[in-house]
Parts: sequence; structure tokens; C-alpha cells
Amino acid sequence: MQANDVSAATTLAPLRRHHAEPQPQQLEAFLDCALCLKALFQPVTTTCGHSYCRNCLASALEYKKLCPLCRAPCFLAPDHPTNVTLQRIVESFYPDVCKQRISELRQDCKDKKMRIPLFVEEMVQFPFALLSLHLYESRYKLLAQRCNEGGSRVFGVVYLPKTGSVQSVVGSAGCLVEITLAHETPDGRWYIHAKGVKRFRIESVCEEPGTDGLVYATVRDIDAEADIERMVSGSSSASLANASSTGSTAVDGGTFAVAAAPGTPALGQERAPRNAGVSAVAEATLMNVDPRAHPDAEAEMLCLRLRVLLEDYFNSTFWSRLNLFSALIGPSRRIKSLPESPLKFSYWAAGFLPVSLQQKQKLLDAPTVNERLRLEVEMLREIVHRESRQSNGFLWLLLAIVVVFVSLYFMRIAASAAALGH
Ligand SMILES: [Zn+2]
Ligand SMILES: [Zn+2]
Repeated sequence: MQANDVSAATTLAPLRRHHAEPQPQQLEAFLDCALCLKALFQPVTTTCGHSYCRNCLASALEYKKLCPLCRAPCFLAPDHPTNVTLQRIVESFYPDVCKQRISELRQDCKDKKMRIPLFVEEMVQFPFALLSLHLYESRYKLLAQRCNEGGSRVFGVVYLPKTGSVQSVVGSAGCLVEITLAHETPDGRWYIHAKGVKRFRIESVCEEPGTDGLVYATVRDIDAEADIERMVSGSSSASLANASSTGSTAVDGGTFAVAAAPGTPALGQERAPRNAGVSAVAEATLMNVDPRAHPDAEAEMLCLRLRVLLEDYFNSTFWSRLNLFSALIGPSRRIKSLPESPLKFSYWAAGFLPVSLQQKQKLLDAPTVNERLRLEVEMLREIVHRESRQSNGFLWLLLAIVVVFVSLYFMRIAASAAALGH
């Protein structure tokens, strides 16, 4: 931390000198999004150092995964952190623009719908999870072919109970997946590797005629709506306050105040590296703290509780009770590789938990990350309780068998001793 303090002071000293009294007109040029040419809204900074509105960048990347300004390879994960400092600067200089953008976004969310082909089967897919499929039904072979030939390599995975009809999935949540690798066999079957991207809710479905039952659905993005509502309800300002209290560059009454060196970012959420071409203001924003690296207390507490329960779960199985192989497959080894961010952790746990598909669908459908974590804690607590009861039962059974064998052995010895005596 000491070294970080020094480097932060060295980098920001000239900035503080030049911008002791920043002029709004000087800032204006830096605060426009290069894509929509309006003031940045929900800004995200890419690894190449450029900042765009989150929605603008997401739309641009649907076409090509390159930074629109410098053409560097560029990806935007659903949990990519918002650049808090930039957002605060825009909020303080353009409050009216922000309000207008929120109402525009709300409207966009209602209007913006996607039409995607569906893989409707008895399975539940989660965002971030990998998926491997062998497609041999003619409707799914067509799905793979269309995804491979068309520009967008995405389709939806939706859970359909064995007895359910396709129409029954309307209103339920599904997961958008993006194909990462596709291979067609000479006889027309497909091997596909894909990755979960985000959730959607199904508005309507229809079977396309002449495709042997390939279903297309009109869907809308669940999490985009939730993000906007959370932002409007002001929890984003709470996370901003949290971020600035843990040490970030923040605009305070029009002057730049450097609180302290920022904390270390969470796994998978590294700060964007320096770029020779970025402006002083943009450089300052790179020093900020990612609000999601410091998730709100409840999410953190729920994650911790879930981790403890997972450890209990690994310890509660029969073999770990017997302490066999525990050095090889022990909990400490498995616990280490869990995802750090509450969002990813909640989806990872949802995929991992040995629960029914109905319960998994309930986890996918959970309105918020915290709600999902809460459900998982509940489910896992029940599982651990059941497992430890079962493995206790097994242990008693094992003990009883040992006792029976030992007593039989002694009875035999006693019988042969009696026979010798005669
Ligand atoms: Zn924009
Ligand atoms: Zn760039």
C-alpha cells in the first residue's frame, strides 16, 4: 500500500496543480461519449483506456468486439464496473442531461426487444457458465446453422419441464448464450461450445413453420431494467459514497480531492491500465475505486455465509466423514477457486448446488443477486443438514456391521475352542 500511495501522489500532483479550479467548459470535451456524442452516461472504461456509455459500447460490440476508437480487442462483461469518478463528474456538471438520459433509457428498455431462436429443453443454463451441446435434432441443427451463418452467434436456453408445452415458457426467465466454437460433422450434426451471457424474460414465442419445431421468442433484457431501476432509486449514489469513503479521486464542490490510494480490485475486475494517449482527466478516472469490488454489506455477508456452508457441505459427505482422500479432494482445495464477485458467485453456486431443475429455475428467476444468494443459503443449509444426517446413518450402519463381524469371529473361536476341549 505504501508504494501505491507514493505512485498515486506522483501521478496526480500535476493534475491537482493544473485543475485547482477546473472550468466546466474545459471538461466538456472529455465528457462526451464518442458513440452517441452526448454526455457520458453510466460510463465504462475499456482496457485500452477509452470511455463510453455502457449501452453505447454494448451495442457497438454486438457488431464487432473492437474498441470503436482505437480498434483494440474489447469485451464488456455484464458486471463490468461503471467508472464512478466519470459518472460523478457528469452528474455534477450535467444533472439535467442525466435525468433525461434515465427517462430515455427506461423507454429504450421497454422498446428494445430481441428475437432469438430458442433451445428449449429440460435444463437450466446460467450466465457465465459454459455449455457444450451435441445437436442432432433437425430443428437444432438448423439453429446452429443459422447462428453460424448469421452475424449474431447467440441463442436462448430455456427450461421446459418434460410435461410442459412450449407456450408455457412465456413469462419465464432464460439465459442468452453466445457460441464460442461450432463444428459441423459431415452428416450435418453440430458440436457447439457456448457461454452464458445474460438473462432475459420471454414475452412471446412462436414455432417457425417448416423448421420441424424450431421456436423463436421475443425477449427483453431483465438485468438492464433492474440496473436502471436501481440507479434511479439511488442505490448507485450509495455505492458512490461507499467508493469515495474507501479512497478514490472524487469531485467535491468543484475541486479535485484525492482521498487515499485505492484498494486492490477484486478478482477479474482489474482496473484499466494506463494509456499513453489518455487525457489528464481520463487518467484520474483510472485511479478510481470500482464500486462492485466493495459490494454492499448484505451481498458480502451472504457470500460469506454461502462459502461457510459450502465448506460444511464438502465436509458432510460420507467419505469426508471417514476422512479418506480428504488430503486430495479436501474442501480447502475446492473453495479456493470460487468466483469473487457476488454476481458471478451467485450464478456459480446456482449451477453447482445439487437441487432440482425447478429450484434451479427459481434461482435463475431471482429478481436480485442478494435474493439469489439468500435462496442459495437456504437451499444449501437444508442439503448440509440432510447430508450430515445421512452420513451419520451410514457411519452407524458401518459400525453395526463391524460389531456383528467381530462378534461372529469371537463366537467361531469360542466354538472351535469348545470343540477342541471335547
Ligand atoms: Zn454514448
Ligand atoms: Zn480504445
